[in-house]
Amino acid sequence: MGKVWFVGAGPGAPDLITVRGTRLLAEAGAILYTGSLVADTALQWAAAGCEIADSKSMDLEQVTDWLLTRAERHATVVRLQTGDPTLYGVLAELARPLDAAGVEVGIVPGVSSAMAAAAAAGECLTLPEVTQTVIFTRLGGRIPMPAGEALADLARHRCTLCIFLSIERIDAVAETLIGAGWAPDAPVVVVHKATWPGEELVQRGSLSDIAGRCRDAHIVRQAMILVSPALGARDAPGGATSKLYDAGFERRFRGKRAGDE
Ligand code: SAH
Repeated sequence: MGKVWFVGAGPGAPDLITVRGTRLLAEAGAILYTGSLVADTALQWAAAGCEIADSKSMDLEQVTDWLLTRAERHATVVRLQTGDPTLYGVLAELARPLDAAGVEVGIVPGVSSAMAAAAAAGECLTLPEVTQTVIFTRLGGRIPMPAGEALADLARHRCTLCIFLSIERIDAVAETLIGAGWAPDAPVVVVHKATWPGEELVQRGSLSDIAGRCRDAHIVRQAMILVSPALGARDAPGGATSKLYDAGFERRFRGKRAGDE
């Protein structure tokens, strides 16, 4: 029996997959991918003769069967997913039957779209003394949110929120945050198709106008919503910025000198 690897393809740009990911794609006897951009990444690295299939029209059971049957034939099988495979995918559901069948499973992390969106916008997700916490979340949809994880609950923390899978309801996101006490003029960044060659779009706005701006820019899918008190830190007058780099901090926490505590 071969080993099935769940590999993160990264957010879109084919060169944002990890070196380990490309090595496994090159070794793989079979690759099952989701999404058109991921296909480009897969094809770029796959060896001649590798079985490559799109799981778009498969249900969970068919995907499992595909992976199981290929693991019987090949030493290395890759399930290639967008971003990082541990976020908002069906890794657990797919791995369970593989575990039960005694097929070894490995996971290779990928650059999540949350990270790619922050980089595209030139923003930091944490800022000393402003926010030191990042929440990855989404609005509930077909899959309801677990107790205590409604956006209104999470908003109380006033930390960075990376909101996946919710661009279709950005008006509800904004209303909820304002309802939870965020200022209507709090900044929001929406990044559409972060890192996709030629298609990336960074839309800035405030909670009160971001929904309209996204509508005008035709951003209706494949977008990350970032809300955070750290947004715009590079433009902050005088820099509401990092104590990490002041001299006292440096002495205490970086290079301790002789005589320092
Ligand atoms: N595992 C993926 C997330 C899959 S869920 C990851 O780690 O990124 C799909 C959601 O991810 C989309 O609704 C969107 O919110 C976000 N997303 C995926 N790729 C994106 C990209 N290139 N730019 C912006 N958002 C993206």
